[in-house]
Amino acid sequence: MNEGHSAFLVLELCREKVAQGEGFVEALAAVRVHNAFTTHTPVPAGNDAFALDLIEKYFWNYWPQLNLTRDEFMEVALQQQSWGPSFAMTALAIRGSTHRNGVSQLHGHVARGMWNWMFPEASQDDVPIMGITNGVHIASWLSPELRALYDSYLGKTWEQKQDDPATWQKVHKIPDKTLWATHNQVKAATISFARERIQKRYKHLGYPPEVWPVLDENVLTIGFARRFATYKRATLLFRDLERLKYLLNRHDMPIQVIFAGKAHPRDDPGKHFIQQVYQFAMQPGLAGKIVFLEEYDIAVGRALTRGVDVWLNNPRRPYEASGTSGMKAALNGVPNCSVLDGWWPEAYNGKNGWSIGEEREYSNLDEQDWNDAQALYHILEHDLAPRYYQHRDADGVPAAWVATCKEAIATCAPQFSFRRMLAEYVDKMYVPELRIQESEVRSQ
Ligand SMILES: *Cc1c(COP(=O)(O)O)cnc(C)c1O
Repeated sequence: MNEGHSAFLVLELCREKVAQGEGFVEALAAVRVHNAFTTHTPVPAGNDAFALDLIEKYFWNYWPQLNLTRDEFMEVALQQQSWGPSFAMTALAIRGSTHRNGVSQLHGHVARGMWNWMFPEASQDDVPIMGITNGVHIASWLSPELRALYDSYLGKTWEQKQDDPATWQKVHKIPDKTLWATHNQVKAATISFARERIQKRYKHLGYPPEVWPVLDENVLTIGFARRFATYKRATLLFRDLERLKYLLNRHDMPIQVIFAGKAHPRDDPGKHFIQQVYQFAMQPGLAGKIVFLEEYDIAVGRALTRGVDVWLNNPRRPYEASGTSGMKAALNGVPNCSVLDGWWPEAYNGKNGWSIGEEREYSNLDEQDWNDAQALYHILEHDLAPRYYQHRDADGVPAAWVATCKEAIATCAPQFSFRRMLAEYVDKMYVPELRIQESEVRSQ
């Protein structure tokens, strides 16, 4: 079960057994052994919980088929909310499975805390929800240009050995000049893709020609593209506008930022964030250097994760369960500048990107946003931009920057590959579950 949304299947599997004459308790015990559950987010919107009268309206003729009373039925998924008792899909999925996981080690920990109330005898560490960190599908996300380089330097069978860190150590054999040139080739394509789309839009909207020139392929380019859920804080970079304008417009170290994303149709605060980014993109001092690319989809995500210089991820810790766009970026030699949330605490080693802010929790959200924004500006000014622009060799290659890119590939690609993830699901969830089923069959 992927998210709680699918958890009604637990009830239907029970109904089939009850129809064959089993009691509900035995039926649930038998069904659980066949179910594994992945929870994907600590955000309330991702954990459906329905008022009991709504459940009553649609299930009044269902609980008799389970041989349950109304109250017994509600009890199967009961969770107290601030607004009252609810029928909670995540609770149902947890009760209806034997193996459960969150999608990073930190999210596993957060989920164990969230659902500790269902296991009152257990300490948080002992709540039976593990962490299996997400990974990305290399064939879907690696640019053809870099694939050709990997084919040359990592050995013919590198893709079959994608989860072996030794495979990726060979990235350090790629000459700096070659990796830099290849990256810039991919970047140029992304910049012209973005520019064409934006200019077409600006012309369509009748904007004056002064705002048409956008993006420069020689400028350090930050990418930010994902759903505009509010906890992802798309507008954090604009917290101190004067500081941002100064950083973007330095003659020696200019910076530009490409934003893309969509909000859920019913997430008005998320939509407001898009509006704000769009308006910032029109302001003097930001126009041309801040752009918002519309019609976000997988194609836009693909162009950006491979074709910017650095990937920005600044969620409000600890709400990012995993995050995967940064994994796609790192695979393509685009290092992450990220809050230590989701997958990044497992990946960050001090050399393969940047960590924003502190590994702590805040009770004051405003203070958290301010501190994280200040930390981000500091990194941009004192580490990221200098590393990109300064100390270039005779060929114009920034050795320290390219070293960061190589380290990002070598450390992130194997650990956050799809193959590593799938092997973990098999070893920690599916096979142990089959073992329980086998032992049940033997004992019958
Ligand atoms: C990878 C991807 C995401 C996930 O982005 P996060 O940074 O993990 O939130 C979202 N949308 C699309 C289209 C993607 O390809």
